[in-house]
Amino acid sequence: MDDSREPGFTTSIVHSDRWDPIEHGSMHKPVHSTVAYGYEETKDLVGVFQGTHAGYAYSRQVNPTVTALERKLDRMERGIATVCFGTGMAAIGSIVFSLLRRGDHIVSSWFLFGNTNSLFRSFEAQGIEVTFVDATDVDLVAEAIRPETRLVFVETIANPRTQVSDMERIGALCRERGLIYVVDNTMTSPWLFQPVDVDASLIVNSLTKYIGGHGNALGGAVTETGLFDWTAFDNIYPEYRTGDPRRWGIQQLRKKGLRDFGAALAPEAAHHLAVGSETLALRMERQCDNTVALVQYLEADDRVSKAYYPGLPEHPQHALASRLFRRPGAIFSFELIDDVDPFAFLDRMNVVVRSTNLGDNRTLAIPVAHTIYFELGAERRASMGIADSLIRISVGIEDVGDLIDDFERALAAG
Ligand SMILES: *Cc1c(COP(=O)(O)O)cnc(C)c1O
Repeated sequence: MDDSREPGFTTSIVHSDRWDPIEHGSMHKPVHSTVAYGYEETKDLVGVFQGTHAGYAYSRQVNPTVTALERKLDRMERGIATVCFGTGMAAIGSIVFSLLRRGDHIVSSWFLFGNTNSLFRSFEAQGIEVTFVDATDVDLVAEAIRPETRLVFVETIANPRTQVSDMERIGALCRERGLIYVVDNTMTSPWLFQPVDVDASLIVNSLTKYIGGHGNALGGAVTETGLFDWTAFDNIYPEYRTGDPRRWGIQQLRKKGLRDFGAALAPEAAHHLAVGSETLALRMERQCDNTVALVQYLEADDRVSKAYYPGLPEHPQHALASRLFRRPGAIFSFELIDDVDPFAFLDRMNVVVRSTNLGDNRTLAIPVAHTIYFELGAERRASMGIADSLIRISVGIEDVGDLIDDFERALAAG
């Protein structure tokens, strides 16, 4: 390979383990099923604690299998450092827990993953204020900013109605106002979009979804892009104001989120996620192809009243999505006409699985108002544009003909 050229996305993921030497030439980073690490000399153990000797002390904070996955995520997101967590929720929770304090204020997208919404509500009870705004419009984000605002939180494509946040302009706004800009990239994955391109400070990924891809392990990650000026951020404790200032925030996040709060990723899960991540680009391309075909098929059927997908020209953020994302994603939602009972429709599907989760290799369908958005209540659902008949589809890698046949069968019997 020409030394002057950076290896491509998939090459980097597949070979990154070997770029740090692995015992016996092993192709995968082994699963280090260990809690602690022993040292020949006391001074080395002491050095690990004091940050003067490279090494591992206790797996709640770092484990070599998890570190290998963190290096892959740095490459995927073009970040300078990544911290992995036991779940995506633990990653988001740790950001707020580690970096904000009582009286601080968050501006968050109104169109939010249900559990993140619930998590932010819990932080409100702990004295952190949250204002939810329609983040498809940067002006509404700007209006919500107060002197106490520290952080702006958005998702790339919102679940389930597929709204796309006004991410470039929100990035410019956050830079101008010195706010931490957190972008949850779960729905797009770093293959379709890299939030560093819109000036994100911290990038969240639920590894459970596309990055792992196989629906067999939970995990989350926060990647530092190096763009935020942590020297001007009061909430960094004096002990983390050391070394490269671009790493102060992530240093504190690792200590508070992992060491203190204990939201660690298990090495066995890290191994599953690392193996899964090797095919991220291949899977996503196939999933996006399948999605386009399915959406086209459903749009043409008069038993489908509405379809929501950023790839559709009538989608309100179609132009933005086309500019920002390599492909418009592999999630869509739709409503059936009143004559077709959505539960009966779903019950007739044989290939598509009635299930929560997304980003699996298998195509999954769920009636959202009755399940993942049930707890929010009818009023909040209505404000998020979630109709009772709305069905969300997370498209998998099956042969597209089988998927179309399955939808056809389920619709025809109605
Ligand atoms: C699933 C999801 C999460 C949470 O991830 P878990 O790994 O399930 O905890 C966060 N954000 C988005 C957008 C998600 O889809």
